[in-house]
Amino acid sequence: MADRPLTLMAVHAHPDDEATGTGGVLARYAAEGIRTVLVTCTDGRCGDGPGGVKPGEPGHDPEAVAAMRRQELEASCEVLKVSHLELLEYADSGMMGWASNDAPGSFWRTPVEEGAARLAELMRHYRPDVVVTYDENGFYGHPDHIQAHRITMAALESVEEPASKVYWTTAPRSAMQRFGEVMREFGGDWEEPDPAEAAEMPDMSEIGLPDEEITTWVDTTAFGGRKFDALAAHASQGENIFFLKMGKERFGELMGVETFLRVKDTTGAALPENDLFAGLR
Ligand SMILES: [Zn+2]
Repeated sequence: MADRPLTLMAVHAHPDDEATGTGGVLARYAAEGIRTVLVTCTDGRCGDGPGGVKPGEPGHDPEAVAAMRRQELEASCEVLKVSHLELLEYADSGMMGWASNDAPGSFWRTPVEEGAARLAELMRHYRPDVVVTYDENGFYGHPDHIQAHRITMAALESVEEPASKVYWTTAPRSAMQRFGEVMREFGGDWEEPDPAEAAEMPDMSEIGLPDEEITTWVDTTAFGGRKFDALAAHASQGENIFFLKMGKERFGELMGVETFLRVKDTTGAALPENDLFAGLR
């Protein structure tokens, strides 16, 4: 293993997922001298436009949104000190059931083998020791997150030297409860989502895992500020504004640990563990 630096590869669906889901570990491992590679699968064109204009509304220009989100992603990577950013540049598929699911070039309608082959090339190039992506439900059911999961698992099957450790992001149910309370607390001055949007909000009680099923708890307290700043780089997206309203300190307290489910391991590191690289250094 001495022929290359220890390497973490995170495979995410959209610009901003790297910050929400793995901002803490990306910042922490970069600070520990580990090479960090972020693969972002889509261009985020179905996100909010400038001024909060929603996809499908007048003035929402998907190309312009994609360009804006790419700049935001680059800024976030700078904050998190991501070593290499790789873009697969599929078109954002939008939420499940949207017409954009089937638009030409959408990630959701891209055959898994095709996306997996491109990702496998990146795995052969960087040879990550640790790969992080979502669970089979994409954590909360977004088609691009599900597809990111599928291509990652398929790519890992196809490469000659797959990562020693593979993880899916998750959240402990206990934290989801606390999170729900904070949402209500900050809800007072928070614009209520319209009913159509609320219907798309995931059911918090269905997300994440019971605490005892979580294999890996990584302390990222020292990098809460970084994670906040990375998210702030994506301030054009409505759902991030909620987090930013909490303020850096409160956010850091709430987000001090990132949790994962270890689904593959060849190191024999004991569980539960507190380090994605346990057994590798
Ligand atoms: Zn996403």
